Amino acid sequence: MQDFRQQAVKNGVTLVESGPCQFCGSAVERGVAQCLDLFGELAGRVRNERGYAASHLFSVDAHALQHPEVHGRLNNHVHLLSLCLMLERGASAALGSRKPAVEKFLALGREWPPLSPPPMGMRGALTVKDVIDAAVEERPALSRRWGEQVWEAWRAHQPWVRRMLDRLMHD
Ligand SMILES: [Zn+2]
Repeated sequence: MQDFRQQAVKNGVTLVESGPCQFCGSAVERGVAQCLDLFGELAGRVRNERGYAASHLFSVDAHALQHPEVHGRLNNHVHLLSLCLMLERGASAALGSRKPAVEKFLALGREWPPLSPPPMGMRGALTVKDVIDAAVEERPALSRRWGEQVWEAWRAHQPWVRRMLDRLMHD
């Protein structure tokens, strides 16, 4: 839990501890800490909701890419590669699915240039709160839609992501 605070310090961001989440705009009352708690709660739904479990990885990538300032430096690269694999190349979004291309990317162990995020509040209209508040039967499609919106919000880096995947998958 303290890890996200350390990342924020490292990234020079002051955390706002009340009101909506400063990063994604979710309508919470205790800022990003509560937004992260909600994500934990959403992740817990995979135990009882099989439909949602099959699309959970969209939520994982979407939430991470809406909050890059509280994650590590390769976070954006990894989650963008993952989103592209699921949205454009048919990879599974089910919990526990491996993405060999992402593992290959990490194994390269190189210093990659940072992929700077879109401005706060412009990282997709859907948030974790929408997905958790939705009816059980709506949650899987909403998770995918959330992933699509975030992928679109990061479109400036889509060419890098596609080039990298071509390289990783054809090497
Ligand atoms: Zn948030």
